[in-house]
Amino acid sequence: MIQKMTQKEAKAFSKKVLKEPVLVWDRLSQTDWEKAFDFARRYMAFLDAAKTERRAVEFIRDRLIKKGFSDIDGATAGRGKYFKVFRNKVIAAAVIGKDSLEDGVRIIASHIDSPRLDLKQNPLYEEVDIAMLKVHYYGGIRKYQWLARPLALYGRVVTSNGKMIDVEMGEADTDPVLTIADLLPHLAAKLQNNKRLAEVFEGEKLNLIAGTLPACDPKTGDRFKLAVLKYLFDRYGIVEEDFASAEFEAVPAGKARDVGFDKSLIGAYGQDDRVCAYTSLESLPDAKKPPKTAVALFFDKEEIGSEGNTGAKSRFIEDFVADLFEKTGRKVDERTLRKTLAASAALSADVNGALDPDYQEVHEKRNAARLGYGVCITKFTGSGGKSGSSDASAEYVGQVRRIFNKAGVVWQTGELGKVDQGGGGTIAKFLAKYGMDVVDCGPALLSMHSPFEIASKGDVYMTARAYEAFYNSTE
Ligand code: MN
Ligand code: MN
Repeated sequence: MIQKMTQKEAKAFSKKVLKEPVLVWDRLSQTDWEKAFDFARRYMAFLDAAKTERRAVEFIRDRLIKKGFSDIDGATAGRGKYFKVFRNKVIAAAVIGKDSLEDGVRIIASHIDSPRLDLKQNPLYEEVDIAMLKVHYYGGIRKYQWLARPLALYGRVVTSNGKMIDVEMGEADTDPVLTIADLLPHLAAKLQNNKRLAEVFEGEKLNLIAGTLPACDPKTGDRFKLAVLKYLFDRYGIVEEDFASAEFEAVPAGKARDVGFDKSLIGAYGQDDRVCAYTSLESLPDAKKPPKTAVALFFDKEEIGSEGNTGAKSRFIEDFVADLFEKTGRKVDERTLRKTLAASAALSADVNGALDPDYQEVHEKRNAARLGYGVCITKFTGSGGKSGSSDASAEYVGQVRRIFNKAGVVWQTGELGKVDQGGGGTIAKFLAKYGMDVVDCGPALLSMHSPFEIASKGDVYMTARAYEAFYNSTE
């Protein structure tokens, strides 16, 4: 039978066994608060510069070069710090460690694509004397969030003779933006108010307003469409057929902002998952060799299921690790490569949804991640009965927990909503297929997948500390 404790004993015992959530700001000193705010400033500059996966690759590559990394496909031997860009949309970086590669590498894998609106391949038309552009949304969006707001346009166009043209419009103060009109409340009632939300906003009504000046006198048809084509031709040399071989992405225009009177939060587009991309980039060992080779992967296409040659389901990771063997003077066969990957440990660096003060009912409060309570370890994702999740083992979560505790990292656990409420997936399972241990780990966001996602500067800072500890741990 349990021996009843005195009040004093119970108090001491509670301290010993109870798990108390720790607010990052309570753990950090005032000097560390400043460090966290400084880190956030640099992170926000990354968000502003990297609104698309292509831009993110360029930023990450430039930063790596500055830090002394060399292109693994280049001729030079390098100094044990390499990167590899593939198809302009996925990038990997590695710092060769003390242990041999076969002992496994430490991988932190994030994604650099975010939900957005892609132009269709025949986007341009005119309706009631307004030139319009048709889009097809990319990733999971709540359509109403994209209406009646300024949108910037980024594009890579390949012309019929193979010339590549990059378009950027809408970020400079003097740039025009594009927008999708929304229905005025005066006229919305009968059409929309009694419909289910899923039916109110139709994908085919997400059309961008592109211009209203006519190209010529009324006798010529399509003169508003023609005016847009004239602008694009004069400015970029683009003709209508070029849309067929173009990737135009409309994203929320404007810069990342401090949120709250205390500026403790960051509001910005694309924090899922560029927050993990930036923190893992900055956590790569710099000064000295890590115990195990540190690998950072920045994938494309996570938001549409990791398909495609730049997504996590591709074999990019195998090629990169094989390249590392070659650069360190080793011949590698299929079996060695497989053994290396199977001996590796990974963090699937992705965000979770933070407990929403206004919608607490979709979370199970005891197991929801909270803003400001540190980096979040998500043991499993998926939906229903953990369907579609790779569900990390006790052994591996135990290892990650020890690493974080030893380094003084403030961490919490989380799950994506109540059981049977919804769910989601990450790239964890595509790493797990190699046999390596993997668990999801990243900060929790409010308004995730919206044009203005919210992160805590404390959590962002703690995420960087967590990734650093993971790379530098000898365990
Ligand atoms: Mn994500
Ligand atoms: Mn996402």
